[in-house]
Amino acid sequence: MQTFPRVNLYLAFFLAFSTWAIYQTAPNQNHDSKKSSSLTRSSNELLPPSTAEVGLKEELSVTKKITVKSGDSLANIFERHEINPGELQKLMKLDSHSEEMKTLLPGEQLHINSNSEGELVNLRYVKSPVKILNIGKRGNTFDWHWELIEQERLASFASGLISNKNPSLYKAGKAYGLSDKLIMEIAELFQWDISFALDLRNGDSFSVIYEKIYVEGVEVGVGKILAASFSNMKKRFSAVAYENSEGTEDYYDVNGRPLRKAFIRDPVHFSHVSSSFNLRRMHPIHKKIMPHRGIDYAALKGTPVRAASDGNITNRSQNSASGKFIVIKHGRTYVTKYLHLSGFARGIYKGAKVKQGQVIGYVGATGWATAPHLHYEFLVNGVHRNPRKVRLPESDPIPEVEMESFRKILSPRIKQLKTISLRNYSSEYKTAKKFVSGKQVPKKEDA
Ligand SMILES: [Zn+2]
Repeated sequence: MQTFPRVNLYLAFFLAFSTWAIYQTAPNQNHDSKKSSSLTRSSNELLPPSTAEVGLKEELSVTKKITVKSGDSLANIFERHEINPGELQKLMKLDSHSEEMKTLLPGEQLHINSNSEGELVNLRYVKSPVKILNIGKRGNTFDWHWELIEQERLASFASGLISNKNPSLYKAGKAYGLSDKLIMEIAELFQWDISFALDLRNGDSFSVIYEKIYVEGVEVGVGKILAASFSNMKKRFSAVAYENSEGTEDYYDVNGRPLRKAFIRDPVHFSHVSSSFNLRRMHPIHKKIMPHRGIDYAALKGTPVRAASDGNITNRSQNSASGKFIVIKHGRTYVTKYLHLSGFARGIYKGAKVKQGQVIGYVGATGWATAPHLHYEFLVNGVHRNPRKVRLPESDPIPEVEMESFRKILSPRIKQLKTISLRNYSSEYKTAKKFVSGKQVPKKEDA
């Protein structure tokens, strides 16, 4: 290659450039001329894109910064900005990276650099401030790379309190400045231990240590939760992120047991469950009709219902009392039932396997129900139990040999969580505590 005559190089380059130019002016033409395309390729192998060529194109090109709107696709954005349709076809052939661009999300940015001929010179796809795909023309095709964005992750703290004013995790989280994402992650972290839909009380409190991500000193997002605690009805639950010796990271309690458990507490997401008002209103009706052996979650019709644990669907049917219902068997000991559904999720039939958290159906008011709600039953060896109180088998803790390294992570985190807890200094906490001893949120136990 070093000895390749200069003149030939120029010639090859000239040919490549004219081939490329022909393609650009006739974008929809079938590329059946194998000879010219192979010529293009071989010239690319010989040469990096010439600075003269790049310079020429950049002189004539303009960059437009476009923010993706709802309903936008790469195709209609290109059309709007008069990019040749052939360019899109070529882009879509860029293996897995074009996959990333098939579903653009509102708010993402595209920096489109094109010339007056409608040819794409460069495209920056800004998925987020820390994830940017850079695509540049190279001969007749495109080159891509993910830009390396230097980011800094710093620990940040937040605390909140459940009170009469902010009775849900969502409201309390918002009141104390937490993002929606962080609130949902706290709920997911404790979804096996706490019923955020039904069990929150005045005076419950939470603290969280999480990462904030910065790019060039500007906060661009929230990373993972490092540790969190939630005091619910005088019981304190803690979670600390720990990477075990096998390199798997998960959340553990103070005893080194994983938070992840066989059953989640609420088969309906807490953010969809309506106030206790509906629940109380429904009770007398239920009690007159039949003994109530489950828990009711009042929620809007169509709210997704999730499988409480991995299992097999043993029944998916309909009758006059239960309406549309699903029965899941989890191993030999446990059975869960979901009643009054408005419909079943796709793939839910007798014999189907389901995963914990999988959507199996939707809240409705079929059968003996006066308003849309999920009636949820939990059976242990054929006996109805209260799913929010029942003791479940605990998973194995971190092995003893690893406990020392776990405690090194755990101890400072737990100390930090205690320090930032609002219980230490908040007058609001004292006010909320008065409510605890005085007028309590009505008890919703009904099993
Ligand atoms: Zn019920």
